[in-house]
Amino acid sequence: MDSKDLIQIEDLYGAHNYHPLDVVVTKAQGIWMYDVEGRKYLDFLSAYSAVNQGHRHPRIVKALIDQARKLTLTSRAFRNDQWPLLAKELCDLTGYNMVLPMNSGAEAVETAVKTARKWAYMKKGVPQDKAEIIACTNNFHGRTVTVISFSTEADYRKDFGPFTPGFPIVPFGDAEALEKAITPNTAAILVEPIQAEAGILLPPDGYLRRVAEICRKNNVLFIADEIQTGLGRTGKLFACEYENVRPDMVVVGKSLGGGCYPVSAVLADREILGVFKPGDHGSTFGGNPLACAVARESLRVIKDEKLVENAAERGEAFMEKLRKIRSRHIKQVRGRGLLIGVELHPAAGGARRFCEELMKEGLLCKETHENVIRFAPPLIIRDKDLNWALKRIKTVFKRLA
Ligand SMILES: *Cc1c(COP(=O)(O)O)cnc(C)c1O
Repeated sequence: MDSKDLIQIEDLYGAHNYHPLDVVVTKAQGIWMYDVEGRKYLDFLSAYSAVNQGHRHPRIVKALIDQARKLTLTSRAFRNDQWPLLAKELCDLTGYNMVLPMNSGAEAVETAVKTARKWAYMKKGVPQDKAEIIACTNNFHGRTVTVISFSTEADYRKDFGPFTPGFPIVPFGDAEALEKAITPNTAAILVEPIQAEAGILLPPDGYLRRVAEICRKNNVLFIADEIQTGLGRTGKLFACEYENVRPDMVVVGKSLGGGCYPVSAVLADREILGVFKPGDHGSTFGGNPLACAVARESLRVIKDEKLVENAAERGEAFMEKLRKIRSRHIKQVRGRGLLIGVELHPAAGGARRFCEELMKEGLLCKETHENVIRFAPPLIIRDKDLNWALKRIKTVFKRLA
């Protein structure tokens, strides 16, 4: 069957909750993907940063297969020999001392919300059902009903109400507004250190540090959603490190599973994650041995292959080269590490048509919102391949001039 047949079948039988580019991928290795016609593409999206280690990293695939041959699922009714080791290794890597494992990013965000609420009732003395968690405008934290309850994106919310209460919204990047929004019932503030889905939006310098100070002063938890920015993408293990900030809770997902398996987690210290007791939260698949074996190897690959350092060095250099492209369509090039946004002027006719042209040149990336092209290749990428990409990008900007 060719791409056309498969696209037709997908559109007939699959729900239309996505608008993918019309490329049908059948295999991938490292930074390269291949469609069913055998055409080769450079992956410049990395499954929204879930494939930081590259596609089918041999060590991660081996860990997956070896574990699949031994034990895949026990549920948490019994213990398994992989979860304790992942928990310890994640703590050793990040400096937190407790972990709660889930599967998808949205589930881990929900878990962070539940943790903060429970902490507020048990430790802070907030009256029952009054806890508030402050979120930011233009946030993206996932798609469950509670998580979209604090979205400010009309498309994410329309026709999905009624929503979960208890989530005041403040403008992203505005520490003063945050401080004003805090009440005695505020349990936490939830922020992305860089808003990736919103279009690679960086807060003003010093914002995260101010948020941390305000949280400490008011006995409010600082929750960082590092699902997309974490694990090396921005050139630090966590993007919050750019301001030397240590959030009270960090949510991770995406590349924790090395592009092989969904794995997410909430990280915090014992005074916070210690609020849980048996029976009050859980997940059938959370902490399963297959997920844990994959995550352990995914973390080791990040460390052994110096992916954090690679993202920092190559990202900075690549962004410089992008800034040198002369095109009246480009409004701004911004980002950190290998999380880069190219914002176009509205007159450019939308980022989508640029992504479609780039696809024809063998470069796969995706628009985010109307006018931003996101560049986020796997962190294993080398200069030669970035230069290959740069050439294609220049070609397309010239063609669509
Ligand atoms: C992708 C993402 C999520 C949601 O993760 P899912 O695995 O799709 O549920 C949450 N927050 C951020 C910042 C993300 O990038």
